[in-house]
Amino acid sequence: HMGVEQPSVTSMVKKLAKRDFVHYEPYKGVVLTDTGIPVALEIIRHHRLIERYLTERLEYDWAEVHDEADRLEHHISNQFADRIAEQLGNPAVDPHGDPIPTADLDVSPPQSGETLADQQVGDKVRIERVPDNDPDLLRYLSEHGITPTTVVEIV
Ligand SMILES: [Zn+2]
Repeated sequence: HMGVEQPSVTSMVKKLAKRDFVHYEPYKGVVLTDTGIPVALEIIRHHRLIERYLTERLEYDWAEVHDEADRLEHHISNQFADRIAEQLGNPAVDPHGDPIPTADLDVSPPQSGETLADQQVGDKVRIERVPDNDPDLLRYLSEHGITPTTVVEIV
């Protein structure tokens, strides 16, 4: 999916485990450690603030900000992220509806977690979030006026 070979993933996971960011058991999986969780939240904060800044201030389309944020998220300081947050009025969510961790790395609890497929015909639902990594889907949704907070009726 990410265009990375399996041995590269294994090698990186081992490096992260050596630095105590993840707990890794071969053939079982990878879990963030207490050291890794705040580092991951920091990167998520950077990513989502960058996405918000790009759409709100630099007039990027929401379909193109994910890849840009992926490139930038590791290269900005926490101070820079805090400045972005301040400039934007400390937004709670990114353009796709994903919660932005606060500077203290608190993250709002998951929203309803329901999908459109969980709904019944005739239900009216408010869109909370959309996947951020499929530009074609995002373009389709904006062409149909569907963004987070839009209320739609299932037909
Ligand atoms: Zn993203």
